[in-house]
Amino acid sequence: METARHPYDTIVIGLGCAGVAAASALAKAGNKVLALESNGRIGGRVQTVISPSNSGVIEWGAEWIHGADNFINSILKKHNVLVLPQSLETMTLRSDGSVATPNSSKNSSFFDLFEIGQRPETNEELLCWHGYGYKTLLQIMLNTYNNGPGLPNLDVELKTMVFRIVWPRDGSGNVEVHCATKVYIASNVIVTTPLGYLKKNHKNFFNPPLPKKKVEAIQNINTGTINKIVIKFNEPWWPKKPSFFKFEWTDDDVAKIPLQDSWITQIFGASSPSGCRKSLILWVRGTAAERVEKMAEHILRQTCMKLLKRFFGKISTTQNPWIVQCTTWSSSFNMGGSYSFESYDTAYTRGRSDLAEPLVDATGELRVLFAGEATHSTKFSTTHGAIETGLREARRLVSNFNVEM
Ligand SMILES: Cc1cc2nc3c(=O)[nH]c(=O)nc-3n(C[C@H](O)[C@H](O)[C@H](O)COP(=O)(O)OP(=O)(O)OC[C@H]3O[C@@H](n4cnc5c(N)ncnc54)[C@H](O)[C@@H]3O)c2cc1C
Repeated sequence: METARHPYDTIVIGLGCAGVAAASALAKAGNKVLALESNGRIGGRVQTVISPSNSGVIEWGAEWIHGADNFINSILKKHNVLVLPQSLETMTLRSDGSVATPNSSKNSSFFDLFEIGQRPETNEELLCWHGYGYKTLLQIMLNTYNNGPGLPNLDVELKTMVFRIVWPRDGSGNVEVHCATKVYIASNVIVTTPLGYLKKNHKNFFNPPLPKKKVEAIQNINTGTINKIVIKFNEPWWPKKPSFFKFEWTDDDVAKIPLQDSWITQIFGASSPSGCRKSLILWVRGTAAERVEKMAEHILRQTCMKLLKRFFGKISTTQNPWIVQCTTWSSSFNMGGSYSFESYDTAYTRGRSDLAEPLVDATGELRVLFAGEATHSTKFSTTHGAIETGLREARRLVSNFNVEM
């Protein structure tokens, strides 16, 4: 296996929000940085997909910016990128085809249903991207927006899976980052791989192995899955407003579903994406979210159309879709879930700071640092939380940190 001759100051592993934030901040501060990403694209759980018929953009991962006072919004304003407040108005459709009135609907809102766990600050305003797409934010950070030239101090290697990090606990030599055909070297690394990935791989990923309290944190913080089923139509046939449709099952209808089909009640609603009027997104959570990832397209299509006819059939004439696709956030080899969460009964907040703690060698040098949404004590499961963790780790490595986004 070839070993790179020239060491980098820092190697960033993973180019989602956290990795992009860390890599761009360090490169802008003058460090020589290499970013290694297993996917063939930048973004991780941010995945803006341009519709093949050019009818808009759809977010397969993160959808909204949480909070108008979020620093992401000020970065965007500086670059004249307009994001708009999202109307949270929701129509509740019942499984018997009726539309629920506010008084007759069960209590949970559409948004309560996809909060898979407890996170402080969940009542923020939501902002949506319309035509731009979440990827714009990452392009701005990497200086590639509007055909920008990128960052001179940052090398990016896509489709490059890291298998192992070997770090010198005694302080001698560099950190080695082992990929399929090459070993890269650096003074230190920032690991931003998702918690779901670390759960499956931490034992073989680090040499020497991780300390006990970090392993416990990896084991104890939960990961959960929400998937999107993206359904594209030739024309929109559902009501133009609102953008959110919550599905509410009547007790009678639930009782009639055969046990083996009861998972469909975990498809909790539909939304009309702000960037693409010709598509509907069905939102699915829990065990059903994992199940739909493995489903054959024709079965998924049949199931979704049956569901849409049941809920929308009395108010709209449904049409056949031309494509039905499903995100695979749980089974993707480099993911292992949509986001980390705190469950109401087993809150394990200390684990997040244990997860964030860097590994230091015998001479006191920082060698292996950790970023990513799961390492944020309060803003986990968000893009702005992930970005903050990337900046936090960059700040640990450079003094006089004052990097403009
Ligand atoms: C369906 C869905 C909806 C969401 N909605 C919202 C929302 O509306 N608002 C919001 O704020 N947040 C939302 N989120 C959460 C948000 O997307 C994440 O919190 C955030 O993007 C995580 O960023 P990250 O950098 O921590 O991790 P990631 O984006 O997962 O980045 C980690 C990167 O590491 C790479 N990687 C993994 N293993 C390796 C390896 N061995 N070698 C090299 N690279 C590797 C991965 O490919 C990935 O690119 C949503 C997420 C999902 C899935």
